[in-house]
Amino acid sequence: MEKIIKNNTLYFDGCDTVELAKRYGTPLYVMSETAIVEKCKEVRDTFLNKYERTRAAYAAKAFLTLSMCKIIEREGLCLDVVSGGELYTAIKANFPAEKIEFNGNNKSQGEIELAVDYQIGRIIVDGLDELKLIESICEEKGKTINILYRITPGVKSDSHDYIVTGKKDSKFGIPLDDEVIYPAIEQAIKSPYVNFMGFHFHVGSQLHNNESHLKALDIALKLIRETKEKYNYVTPELNIGGGFGVNYTEEDSKKPYAYFLDPMMEKINNFSKEINITRPEVVIEPGRSIVAEAGLTLYTVGTIKDIKGIRKYVSVDGGMTDNIRPALYQAKYEGLAANKANDTKTDVVTICGKCCESGDILIRDAKVTELKRGDIFAVFTTGAYGYTMASNYNKNPLPATVLVKEGKSELIVKRQSYDHMIENEIIPESLSL
Ligand SMILES: *Cc1c(COP(=O)(O)O)cnc(C)c1O
Repeated sequence: MEKIIKNNTLYFDGCDTVELAKRYGTPLYVMSETAIVEKCKEVRDTFLNKYERTRAAYAAKAFLTLSMCKIIEREGLCLDVVSGGELYTAIKANFPAEKIEFNGNNKSQGEIELAVDYQIGRIIVDGLDELKLIESICEEKGKTINILYRITPGVKSDSHDYIVTGKKDSKFGIPLDDEVIYPAIEQAIKSPYVNFMGFHFHVGSQLHNNESHLKALDIALKLIRETKEKYNYVTPELNIGGGFGVNYTEEDSKKPYAYFLDPMMEKINNFSKEINITRPEVVIEPGRSIVAEAGLTLYTVGTIKDIKGIRKYVSVDGGMTDNIRPALYQAKYEGLAANKANDTKTDVVTICGKCCESGDILIRDAKVTELKRGDIFAVFTTGAYGYTMASNYNKNPLPATVLVKEGKSELIVKRQSYDHMIENEIIPESLSL
């Protein structure tokens, strides 16, 4: 484990977290390179090396920086981006173009142009109108591009409603109504500008149960069969998305990748034999599961309010600006006083942020040791959807991020300055006093 307690102090990947807080300031995101590398290795050992013709595209939206692109490239994964900004970050990190895939329900002309110019590996297309946009861009540039269709399999996964994406009432993907999906497939097969590689689905996030993946897979396989029968066209690829859950608290029961992937691969293999096709190349898109547990956030404790008989609020110097997930979907976290990590936990408190919102709470009813102003508080499992969802609400600067590995730490994102926050702001002539 990357987290250990030594001399009553929390260590993360060999680094004294209290020292990190002192050296880099708080709030501070800390990412363990060892933990990220371990997860990538699990993906290789239990999927990429176990099954031929497979790829894993790390979903950049979970945590993306230039350095993260380098780790992902070195560890042999591809990269799944969902915006021009993420794509730009990958390009700036010299990420191999053919290993980039581009998802998203509303890609702009400019974003698609960037993708076509860089000749990325795949665009995951969300509908026929997007296909037409891609075709016109490719025609103009004299280029072609590989595409898949993201389908809406119409299955409801067992997770918070905001992170369920595969049900029919969804802004993502192409609904499987005959009059929608078939013309789209036909157009993609006929198009001289795109190579139609196949289908993609992504059923939701933070899942501990493989049921919705398996149901969605059945629907995708049916579509592959129909495409073969109707158009005599065998789609060479199948993308089964991400969504593999992690442990935030003891209520979670994380499963290994194999729990999701082995039964899916068996289904795909059997199906391919049955309809006598080469098994499609299978792609997964893990995001959260690669980085969530590899991250923690360090805060400094400030004001403490003990409202007698009601609740004790312990405020820290960050909050919903660096971790929106508790406010957005009641996400639960655990934490610890990093500078007195072994002290008996005699208190129950609410760890809250410093933003002007009552919902700015990081942990409700946390069992902690008695906290004092100046203590360093660590919130665990913040590596996914923390930094990438961070905001400047209340003009709080974005925290710094350090990468730690076996006792060494390196800054990979500088703390944002006040000047940086107002850099794009302009006072027009009419307002100069
Ligand atoms: C968010 C997303 C993922 C990654 O999901 P995780 O739950 O973080 O693994 C994969 N594919 C698509 C299309 C996504 O939108």
